[in-house]
Amino acid sequence: MRDQGDLKKPKLKLETDVKYLKGVGPKLGALLAKRGIRTVLDLLTYYPRAYEDRRAARNIGTLKENDLVSLKAQVIKVSSVMMGRSKRKMYDVLIRDSSGQIHCKYFRVPYKGYFERFQPFQDVRIVGKVTNYRGKLEFHHPDLRDIEPDEELQDILAPIYVEIENLSSMKIARMIRSVFEHLPAEAVPVEKFSPALREKYNLLTRWEALWQLHNPQVDQAALLMEQRSDAHRRIIFEEFFWMELYLAARKTGLQKEPGIAIPAGRALSAKLIQSLPFELTKAQKRVIREVSQDLGQRHPMSRLVQGDVGSGKTMVAMLAALQAIEAGHQACLMAPTEILAEQHFRNAKKLFEPLGLKVGLLTGKSKTKERSELHAALESGDIHFLIGTHALIEDVVQFKSLAVVVIDEQHRFGVEQRAKLKRKGLSPHFLVMTATPIPRTLAMTVYGDLDVSVLDELPPGRIPIQTRVIFESKRPEAIAFMAAQIERGRQAYVVYPLVEESEKIDLKNAFDEFEKLRSQFPQIQFGLLHGRMKSDEKDQIMNEFREGRIQVLVSTTVIEVGVDVPNANLMIIEHSERFGLSQLHQLRGRVGRGAHKSFCVMIMGYAVSTEARERTAFMEQTSDGFKIAEFDLELRGPGEFLGTRQSGLPGFQMANLVRDVALLTEAREAAFDLLNADTKLAKPENEHLRNELLDKHGPTALAGIA
Ligand code: ADP
Ligand code: MG
Repeated sequence: MRDQGDLKKPKLKLETDVKYLKGVGPKLGALLAKRGIRTVLDLLTYYPRAYEDRRAARNIGTLKENDLVSLKAQVIKVSSVMMGRSKRKMYDVLIRDSSGQIHCKYFRVPYKGYFERFQPFQDVRIVGKVTNYRGKLEFHHPDLRDIEPDEELQDILAPIYVEIENLSSMKIARMIRSVFEHLPAEAVPVEKFSPALREKYNLLTRWEALWQLHNPQVDQAALLMEQRSDAHRRIIFEEFFWMELYLAARKTGLQKEPGIAIPAGRALSAKLIQSLPFELTKAQKRVIREVSQDLGQRHPMSRLVQGDVGSGKTMVAMLAALQAIEAGHQACLMAPTEILAEQHFRNAKKLFEPLGLKVGLLTGKSKTKERSELHAALESGDIHFLIGTHALIEDVVQFKSLAVVVIDEQHRFGVEQRAKLKRKGLSPHFLVMTATPIPRTLAMTVYGDLDVSVLDELPPGRIPIQTRVIFESKRPEAIAFMAAQIERGRQAYVVYPLVEESEKIDLKNAFDEFEKLRSQFPQIQFGLLHGRMKSDEKDQIMNEFREGRIQVLVSTTVIEVGVDVPNANLMIIEHSERFGLSQLHQLRGRVGRGAHKSFCVMIMGYAVSTEARERTAFMEQTSDGFKIAEFDLELRGPGEFLGTRQSGLPGFQMANLVRDVALLTEAREAAFDLLNADTKLAKPENEHLRNELLDKHGPTALAGIA
């Protein structure tokens, strides 16, 4: 079978350039290279995206919910609907056969122009699972492709590859099959996982997995089609494993850095807790204890505090700062915006000044003179607690003894910022507080090197926020409701989304609405807040709102997460379909902070898709930020959920953070166990793991465990 007899041809290796494969050549080779397929190994890791089981071929008329089927059909029409937010579209391909017709819906587009290729009357093949959507059967994201003339010659179970321009799935399949036929045994890669590890987690060898993925066996059909086969498990496990090993190495490194051990002081924290007008929740007490214990260690803490809006994260920060101060050190708190920094500053002053402690504020606005006074006071240790925006770390600030850094409301812990502090010769304890609850799976990856505490309890006595999603036509009722609330002495927010491409129009909408409301209700004080305003203008408006001189704040999304004005009890969100669910949840969390019953009205445009409508309607059903985050993650995927800019997520080829949680947990355990048993990866049998880490992440990957 193998052409080992052919002496003219060099033997195939995994590193061989694909252009030397039989039937490929330079032109096709260049096309493949554009998709990152340069070597034979690259080709082998170009996994099938689906499988087609010809035995399961069915007629549309006989489909039942949850059937996993393949069928041959004809396109009737292709249409698309805008889904509100920016440029996202939902595609709907209507197909039929002699027995009936069915819709195939796509909420994501594989690549631009993908659906435009399908024309009416074209013959296609569909592979997918039948969904029941409001009593109607349809496909969501089925595999859809045109039928090739010689297709019927193929096996009953066929791998389907993402086409590469005019290179069809079938041609790719042939290429890969030929590689398997011609690759000599000695070229097969060495297995990276030990037999013990493979046995413990029930894993195939990598090579077995690759072979099975590309050469699907009929008895595995169902598992393969659902991406749950042993082969899939092995590849997914491995993708997670490398990431987790990297995180484990980082974490081990962090744990070994020398740091300042801060004993828990009793006197001041007891005093501060006594001065509070409320009792700490059980969750707050638990998390405060966890943090306090960390601070007592001789290596720097890296802890993430997660908690839903209003769960009282700020108190955790304050007590961490106090522990440092009581032991004679300093603390700082970094907020993402000036408005939030100032809010924390006011709050901290109220709590700390009665204890005889000094709090400072440093933002981009601080004047040169203030700044130099601040610098002096920080260096001498006269200021105990510094609050600010990131200016606080960018700046030439020198602390006398900085021991605790708190980062509030930030998605991604700034690795760079940590490095900056280190360059100043500091290795303080870090406490990161997230605004958006992050589903467990994502927390394990994005924050996999941090310890996590969860505030899973809201302070008692909170009255649930009543949420309504309404159509535009009902806006007058919402506005009348607003006027009634103001009449009763409450305050309200009206929020407009600001989508970048249409920023001008949106801004105009906010302006227009502001003017309209003003003339409609001359007795009400309105304020307008938007991102283009100077920061002192913004502050002034925020202050007036906080003090109740402004009753209704009309705003673009600049009312950041974290703003706390307890008397405001109504949030009206215009074009709510344009926001992500987690964002809606954050906005809603601006109310419901006081003693009065609070309301959130989400106004939705008529032109939105059913999907967007259902998504928003989910907000009426639950106020649990974790549930919302999970749903949001499922809908949008991790990249968009976190915001691609700050996600820093590794790209997975096959693994799916939502679907494969169980495997992620196993891979994490395997990676951490391995590093615990061999903290420096120094054992000869682990040398290749060490090399792999270096390969994937560069020398910094091992910095912590070197
Ligand atoms: P978040 O977790 O969203 O940052 P905050 O720390 O801003 O929440 O707290 C929200 C509000 O709840 C604040 O007004 C705060 O004073 C109040 N608060 C915090 N802890 C408690 C508690 N244990 N009982 C009652 N109110 C509390
Ligand atoms: Mg907060």
